[in-house]
Amino acid sequence: MDQKKKMCSSENKLEMLNCGGCKKRILQKEVKANLVVLLFNRFWHKDHIKCVYCKLPISDGRILRSKVDSSKPACYACHIQTTHPACVVCYLPVIERGLVAFDRLFHIDCFRCAICNKTIPQRTGFYERDLMLYDPSCYMLYIKDDGIDEFGIFPAVRSALLDRPSGVTSGVNNDASID
Ligand SMILES: [Zn+2]
Ligand SMILES: [Zn+2]
Ligand SMILES: [Zn+2]
Ligand SMILES: [Zn+2]
Repeated sequence: MDQKKKMCSSENKLEMLNCGGCKKRILQKEVKANLVVLLFNRFWHKDHIKCVYCKLPISDGRILRSKVDSSKPACYACHIQTTHPACVVCYLPVIERGLVAFDRLFHIDCFRCAICNKTIPQRTGFYERDLMLYDPSCYMLYIKDDGIDEFGIFPAVRSALLDRPSGVTSGVNNDASID
């Protein structure tokens, strides 16, 4: 009984020596067998590094700090989903460059004419009516009537580049967002 108590009291101090996933004590033989890694200032059984969002083991080596709990890892896919704004057309995150038009964010490739479905080149500008976008030539041919629609020349071209994962982090790689 006494021995058990002793172990309990020393356990708090040595929490770092417990796996961040399963909370069990890391064993010497596991370290020797190369089954343990240091991540976010504590040790983890490699197999117990699971994404805090999707709960799946992260096996591709791309481990990022989660936004919800900085001591918990997130997989690359969930990291992108949770840190990048979504395109209003395809709902996928805009990772590199996007366009903002009428306060809505688009992938450059998703910014397409509603009639011909071609991407609208930035230099030509675009027309918008009822949340539909038109390039100037389709607009003039098929839509124009009363001339009340707005013409825009891309109010902002914004880089939605936030960060790029750089392999396994050692716990120093915060979610740096660069504007
Ligand atoms: Zn574990
Ligand atoms: Zn995930
Ligand atoms: Zn899109
Ligand atoms: Zn068109």
